[in-house]
This record gives sequence, C-alpha cells and structure tokens, in this order.
Amino acid sequence: MTLTTHATLGAVIGHTVGGPFLAFVFGFISHFLIDMVPHGDTGLADNYKIHKRNRKTALAYVMIDAVIAILFVLLLANTRDLISLRTFSWGIVGGVLPDLIVGVYEITKTPLLKWFNTLHFAFHDFFVKRKGDVPLYYALLAQVVLIAYLQTKL
Ligand SMILES: [Zn+2]
Repeated sequence: MTLTTHATLGAVIGHTVGGPFLAFVFGFISHFLIDMVPHGDTGLADNYKIHKRNRKTALAYVMIDAVIAILFVLLLANTRDLISLRTFSWGIVGGVLPDLIVGVYEITKTPLLKWFNTLHFAFHDFFVKRKGDVPLYYALLAQVVLIAYLQTKL
C-alpha cells in the first residue's frame, strides 16, 4: 500500500483506540494486514529487486509517495479537532514503521532485519503470489477512495 494509505489508516486507528501504546501496536499490525490486499506494486518491486530495471521509477514512486503522505498527514492534523494528537501520531508511526524497517534492510542488508523483511513480504505477497496482482492504476484509485473514506472517521 502507499504510505499515505498506511498513515491514514494508522491515524484513524490511533484516533479510535485508547492510548498511544495501543495506537502504535494496532497501527503496526494494520500495516501487515492491509498490505495483504493486492495493490499493484509487485511489478515495481520485482523490477527493482530481481530484474534491476527501472530502478529510478521505483525510487521516484517511493519519494512521491512519502512526500504526499507527509503533506496529507499535515493536512489532517491542521484541519481536524483531534481529541489526541498523541494517539493520532503514534497510530501513524505504527502504520508506516514497517516500510521504514524494510527500506533500512534494503539499503543495509543487515542480518538483524532479515527476519523482519521476510515477515513483511510473507504478508505483502500472500495473495499476490497465489492469485496475481492487480493493475497499479486501479490499486491507486482504490486507495484514493479508501483514504477519502478513512479521513471522514477523523
Ligand atoms: Zn509494507
């Protein structure tokens, strides 16, 4: 999923649960569960990791995704009367942290994070490897609709 989707879902979870710790934990778990839904990025990831093609495209996708996520989170934080900015924030941290850890592993290849990378992609690829992926364009549109719905819950 896009970081914007993970961040928005994390924010809603944080907004819903009782405190910062639970916001973080449930945000973190939500990352793995929503990543299981096929979301069109297998081609990008395989090109990057396996075929070593179009790597700039994959990096640009991640950069654009990250900046949009930051801007969207700021938009939410500055336009809502949040009950707790703390739980909102920790939900977002939990929601996006798995992809940060995967990114650190991708750069460093440290054995310390190999298990986490394997776990992340066990969830991420669970249905995609069995049933195939969906076109990225439709997956992005679906995420825009999901985010539009989720932000109404804040
Ligand atoms: Zn992920």
